Amino acid sequence: MGFFLEEELVILFKILHSSFVKDPIEQVGAAVLRKHAKAVLKKDIGSRKLARVIAHMKKALKNEGFGVAIAAPQIGESLRMFVVSGKVFAPEGDETATPPDQVFLNPEFLRMSKKKSEMTEGCLSVRHKYGTVLRFEKASIKALNESGKSLVYHGSGLVAQIFQHEIDHLNGILYVDKSVTLMDDKDWKELREKRKKT
Ligand SMILES: [Zn+2]
Repeated sequence: MGFFLEEELVILFKILHSSFVKDPIEQVGAAVLRKHAKAVLKKDIGSRKLARVIAHMKKALKNEGFGVAIAAPQIGESLRMFVVSGKVFAPEGDETATPPDQVFLNPEFLRMSKKKSEMTEGCLSVRHKYGTVLRFEKASIKALNESGKSLVYHGSGLVAQIFQHEIDHLNGILYVDKSVTLMDDKDWKELREKRKKT
């Protein structure tokens, strides 16, 4: 070769890579993220077709180090379902006891707390941004699990926030539509560093 320095080759590779390889997660601007997703049909629960969608969602989530949950529209499936990473339910500091990812089909809100608070948030469909959103501190939902059993879940803090963020996805809403503040993750990191120091 001799035409490129190694660093330049890396940059060139990155440019080519980003222009040819599609992001595995649907990104803001994709029509599927703005649709009101369709209910999962009873007859599809337990089917091979639905198992494939669930497997795809779990795999996509696993590949995202910072991801805590994913909604079906984010992988291009306009269905009312989301998956929450088991690490959300893991006892703090115990990496060995991560519970399995949890699947929520046809989720519906039952009750929310009166109080809302401003929570920091990001989204796999809005890369390189972070923001704050007003969320109910507690949220109870009912949903079917993978085998079609109807269950009630009471979420508080992060879990309540996830329920609200994911159900928004199923209604075609992204957190950037309702964020109080929004910034690039580079600026966000700087702000967090500054806050840590003061
Ligand atoms: Zn999201």
